[in-house]
Amino acid sequence: MNNELTPNNNPNRPAYGRNNGRRNHRAGQYRTPGTRLTATPAARTNRPTTSLTGGASRNTTSIRPALETGPRSANPRKRQSRGGNNNRNRRKMTNPALTHRLNTTLHTTDNIPELTDETAIRIVTISGVEGIGRNMMVIENTKDIIVVDAGFAFVSESSKAPGVDYILPNTQYLEERQDKIRAMVITHGHLDHIGGIPFIMERIGNPPIYTQYLTSLMIMKRQEEFPHLAPITMNVVKEGEAFTIGSMRIKTFPVNHSIPDAMGLSFETPHGDVVVTGDIRLAHNENNEIDSLERESWEKVGLNNNLVLLCDSTNADREGFATPESHVFEALEHIIKEATGRLIIGTFASQFERLIHIVKMCEKYGKFIVPEGRSIKTHIDIALMAKMLEVKPGVIISAEEMKDHPIDRIIVLATGAQGEEFAALMRMATDKHKFVTLNERDTIVLSSSVIPGNEIAVQILKDNIYRKNVRVVNYKSTAVHASGHGHVGELNWVRSVVKPKFLIPVHGHHYHLKSHMYAAIETGFPKENIFVPDDGTIIDIIGGTDVIVQKAKAPNESVYVDGFNVGARQEVVLRDRQSLAEQGMFVIIATVNIRTGKLRKSPDIISRGFVYLRENQQMLSEARVLIKKTVENYTVRQNPIDLDSIKDELADIVSGFLMQKTNKSPMVIPVLIGI
Ligand SMILES: [Zn+2]
Ligand SMILES: [Zn+2]
Repeated sequence: MNNELTPNNNPNRPAYGRNNGRRNHRAGQYRTPGTRLTATPAARTNRPTTSLTGGASRNTTSIRPALETGPRSANPRKRQSRGGNNNRNRRKMTNPALTHRLNTTLHTTDNIPELTDETAIRIVTISGVEGIGRNMMVIENTKDIIVVDAGFAFVSESSKAPGVDYILPNTQYLEERQDKIRAMVITHGHLDHIGGIPFIMERIGNPPIYTQYLTSLMIMKRQEEFPHLAPITMNVVKEGEAFTIGSMRIKTFPVNHSIPDAMGLSFETPHGDVVVTGDIRLAHNENNEIDSLERESWEKVGLNNNLVLLCDSTNADREGFATPESHVFEALEHIIKEATGRLIIGTFASQFERLIHIVKMCEKYGKFIVPEGRSIKTHIDIALMAKMLEVKPGVIISAEEMKDHPIDRIIVLATGAQGEEFAALMRMATDKHKFVTLNERDTIVLSSSVIPGNEIAVQILKDNIYRKNVRVVNYKSTAVHASGHGHVGELNWVRSVVKPKFLIPVHGHHYHLKSHMYAAIETGFPKENIFVPDDGTIIDIIGGTDVIVQKAKAPNESVYVDGFNVGARQEVVLRDRQSLAEQGMFVIIATVNIRTGKLRKSPDIISRGFVYLRENQQMLSEARVLIKKTVENYTVRQNPIDLDSIKDELADIVSGFLMQKTNKSPMVIPVLIGI
């Protein structure tokens, strides 16, 4: 509050960057949501074998003994709305994001009927079905709960949450049923599927995680940033394996996405399988012929009696098949091979397979690669660790070492193709990068699409880049980007092979899910067997035939990670931020004689982002008169004088006055000092 109380000598000092510090933190750490990406079957093989341990189930292996830790604490069912972790106070909380915990919500979920029918299977889409990000769903029978994925969502300009770092799934439904949670299964390593893990594991009682090798590495790598958290019990599953947790048998199957080790899940029930695709596209060629391995894998899933399909909808509004990633590889290879000056490739760090491919191409053509941006460096490190990428020493160099190599053999792989203010590409474009200054001999490849909500940021980035007169290759002009999510033709094909009785479109905005639904209806899928969920929707399938969409939803208000806080009830704060951003503020400082109720002198007025006060002196003096009159009229009725009680009235009256004069409603903050 210090700034608000500085002397009123410069009423319209320009606003200092409100969000800059935080944005820096965000952009430096992660990239935009891990969506829209791609993968090849080749990367699915070739991973180091993991050692067998006596894990929770016979078919899983432990990633390494060091990661498998501590006995799980007992989880008595908690009815209060906070994440009940018995060990919360045991260790020092060093990570700011978890220092303060707010209640997630005021409501209880007492109005949600518990499952009692042995023939019932419950599916709860906790979040991720009303927007891209924070994917989480729950598969539940009378005995057990399995959680699928725990992502977070990044905050874009359009999410009306200024200053917030990211948005988490609301885990209250799970917190209240902690004693039923047996495991968390993670489909793949993108942040919209793993990003929430550090923030929510304690809240839901640290269940063991089951996932594939690469995903496990990515989870453990992030976990290093939260050293005070209870260690994760990690079980590494191989694609195609099945395992049993409690009363549930879960079959896994490989799927194609932009990151290796992505898998789909089939939960066996007495009345058929609940099939969760995870994020998918199909490996195919330019004639839309599906790769034979891919075809066989899905056909195998189709052999089961499939009750319901929960299927990716991200690109359900796009026609036909997506561009095959092989095209992108070819286009990038051509560009890398032919590059005459320095080449700078901006891409999504989540395009894991593309990163690997680019590094391999660089080695092949005798180039040196400079990873720039934390998320890209982290992903390359993980790829090396997982032995999914093997390169000769010296191929990957640091930005500092660039000067030791001929410029036409340098390839910079940079984050920030979404225009993030502090990401590597933007730093280069605005001459703020320590080692890269753009010049006319450079070529920049933007190997990504624009994520909705980022259009303005990307426009600014492009203007800055084009000002440097570099050559720019966009994904629209050349095939340097393909999405990791199948178009509607691919989704239709998957559904026709899996042959589910019911369809629940997931992963996307509501319009994606609805597009998916209409596409299914067009192919003859019965409309009454399609259920489009919202965040928190609870769908019970009884006896394999009757579907009940519960009226009550699981709590679904957004949970924000906001600086030092994790919590849901921050709407007031967000409203204030938005009102400050749009209307500015108007601070009144008045010194009141506590005995007489008279103002000692004319009140001071400070405003930011409202109107230019120097040009509004007349209004200001009227405001001062009004403030004086309001305070003194009020105090005259009081004995003793209570300044606090005057503030609301004063704020109301001054707001009304300012509205009348300017048609704006800044936040009015009265500060009354009694002497
Ligand atoms: Zn996703
Ligand atoms: Zn993904």
